[in-house]
Amino acid sequence: MIPVESFRGKRIALFGLGGSGLATARALVAGRAEVAAFDDAESRVEAARAAGIPTRDLRTCDWSGFEALVLAPGVPLTHPRPHWTVEAARAAGIEIIGDVELFCRERRRRAPDAHFVAITGTNGKSTTTALIAHIVREAGRDAQMGGNIGTPVLDLAEPRRGRVYVVECSSFQIDLAPNLDPTVGIHLNLSPDHLDRHGTMENYAAIKERLVADAKLAVVGVDDRFSSAIADRIELSGTPVRRISIRNPVADGVYAVGQRIFVADDGTQTLFTDLGGIDALRGAHNAQNAAAAIAACLAIGLAREEIVKGLKSFPGLAHRMEIAARQGRVMFVNDSKATNADAAERALASFERIYWILGGRAKAGGIGGLSDYFPRIAKAYLIGEAADEFSRTLEGKVEYEIAGTMDAAVAAAARDAS
Ligand code: ADP
Repeated sequence: MIPVESFRGKRIALFGLGGSGLATARALVAGRAEVAAFDDAESRVEAARAAGIPTRDLRTCDWSGFEALVLAPGVPLTHPRPHWTVEAARAAGIEIIGDVELFCRERRRRAPDAHFVAITGTNGKSTTTALIAHIVREAGRDAQMGGNIGTPVLDLAEPRRGRVYVVECSSFQIDLAPNLDPTVGIHLNLSPDHLDRHGTMENYAAIKERLVADAKLAVVGVDDRFSSAIADRIELSGTPVRRISIRNPVADGVYAVGQRIFVADDGTQTLFTDLGGIDALRGAHNAQNAAAAIAACLAIGLAREEIVKGLKSFPGLAHRMEIAARQGRVMFVNDSKATNADAAERALASFERIYWILGGRAKAGGIGGLSDYFPRIAKAYLIGEAADEFSRTLEGKVEYEIAGTMDAAVAAAARDAS
């Protein structure tokens, strides 16, 4: 745990007592802040109290003595409307921050030399975060991985020279971190998501931009127009930028031509490695993730051989194009993290002859947008609530059966594919 000592003896209002909120409260208490923690759910307040965290009904107390409001990332700061604690904090004129901000302050105070790689983007955050942490560990260094992935950031080991922090940041966490200053800030890509929480694409992009704007080095994917504009803007303001692309060569950065990854320095381009044969990094989207990881690892001083070794041994993350089994010529792939058509498209683009199990709950737009990939689908097996809707889209274009359950679907697909 990282005790937060920058608020020693100060009064802090803390709202949101889920997993990361509780970890934040513990870290503040350990750093001797006077915490007044609260949640809308009485059961969470009780659980916090039982864990030794001082709680207080923030609806009825006087806010004038508080130094800051520490908010859990799930609590609305702006959209659809500010949470009542946000209104109260604004009325009291105090800052509103989250756990990533507290981490930044502690790192600056205790070990500003400890590398801090922060990762954001609409898609690929967890994969890129896990990949960087894996490469760093394989190189024999102490990688502390957390944030929006797995361990809350304040539950990581204390900042110390030589430690490398690899922290996944959601846009909500960035929004609550006014002084985000990573050694390497990575912004992968931007497509519409979470607009219910961020209002417009412009606002969503502006939040992501803040993760890279004050980085010592910004690594920015430039394959969508919003992210490309971010790279141009922060470069103009003086932040060093390495660009990432899986579409075009770049002059300074890392780009992919198919599975081959090139590093470009001042217009000089050299082949860095070939991702062909690395199962966990299959697909163009993973070339983007790997290219960003390479740029970050080079920036923190890892050697090419160390990075290549880590890429080759990356086990991948569960449920993201995870190879679950092989039987004869058939490979069973679990991509159940693909919960919208955009994410599912990456898997369909990565394989040729597909026995496709799909279903669950349909999202707006359904699967109509995936029709370019229908010729690759030997047969589809529909499960869950969306089976009927999806069958109407597939009708006359792709052979399908309503399998009902996952078990039945896997058995039928295995039979047909063998
Ligand atoms: P996140 O943490 O941003 O949700 P993940 O790494 O967990 O991203 O990947 C989730 C899904 O998003 C994957 O199953 C894959 O289909 C898709 N994906 C992964 N990386 C990218 C990328 N760079 N661009 C677009 N889609 C991606």
